[in-house]
Amino acid sequence: KWCDVGDMIGIVLTQVQQFIQHRRIRVELPDQPPFVSGDEVLLEQVLVNVISNAIKYSPEDSEIVITVKVDERHGQMTIVVADSGVGIPEADRERVFEKFYRSESSRHVTGTGLGLAICRGIVEVHGGTITAEPNPGHGTRVCICLPTEEPEASFPYMGQGEEE
Ligand code: ATP
Ligand code: MG
Repeated sequence: KWCDVGDMIGIVLTQVQQFIQHRRIRVELPDQPPFVSGDEVLLEQVLVNVISNAIKYSPEDSEIVITVKVDERHGQMTIVVADSGVGIPEADRERVFEKFYRSESSRHVTGTGLGLAICRGIVEVHGGTITAEPNPGHGTRVCICLPTEEPEASFPYMGQGEEE
């Protein structure tokens, strides 16, 4: 199934907004939001986990920025979730994707350490990658890279706006 990345981000933000009223979350979408092929419930779960982490590990008055970038030439798109929170020490940046691994830097907050391991599993079955990087200045940016395609280009026999 083709999933509209802009729609998925909208759905996830209404879900998390119920739990955090006063959080500034800015979304930067391209004019034509990309589509990815896959299971939207699973992909939305990835976004919930990553956005929840950004909220959980950054101060209440700080902003979270979600940016979607499309690389048409390589048939890829990237969702970047950037926060200006505690950050992840370089030595832990790969380990945080292991089951139950939690960084010392965040022991002030509770968690099971499963969120990112689940995210990596879901992203990989969709043919993508997920990494954690330092956010220039302060905090963390999680980059979710997925293969993308124009629905019309892949299925020319499908009429506009029609579902599968
Ligand atoms: P949960 O299973 O409830 O999500 P968790 O948040 O501890 O628990 P993960 O989401 O897998 O587990 O994250 C693993 C670890 O990576 C976290 O414990 C934290 O140390 C670190 N981490 C993840 N996201 C961020 C972030 N945005 N900023 C700082 N540290 C982070
Ligand atoms: Mg988590």
